[in-house]
Formats: sequence, C-alpha cells, structure tokens
Amino acid sequence: MLKCRECGNTWKLEVSFPLKKEFKQLFHYCPYCRRNTFHDILEYVESGD
Ligand SMILES: [Zn+2]
Repeated sequence: MLKCRECGNTWKLEVSFPLKKEFKQLFHYCPYCRRNTFHDILEYVESGD
C-alpha cells in the first residue's frame, strides 16, 4: 500500500517491477492528485513466491 503525502489517500500499488524493501518512500503518480507525488510505503504486497 502507498500513502500519498499530498492528499493522504492510500491505494494499492501495481507495478511490473519488484520494489526493494529498503525504500521508505516512492515518487510516483497519484491518481487522486493527478500528478507525481511522494508516497510513504505502508505495506508490500507480493504476488506469488
Ligand atoms: Zn495524492
């Protein structure tokens, strides 16, 4: 789960690349802000494995 620092909304990140768990934040497009913002990474959802 990602939490946008700008609007505070949380949403599930769907990416085609693995995220390194060392990351505490991610600069990504927010569908609520409709622009790229910093997000706090709350939880990793791992598919498979
Ligand atoms: Zn946002």
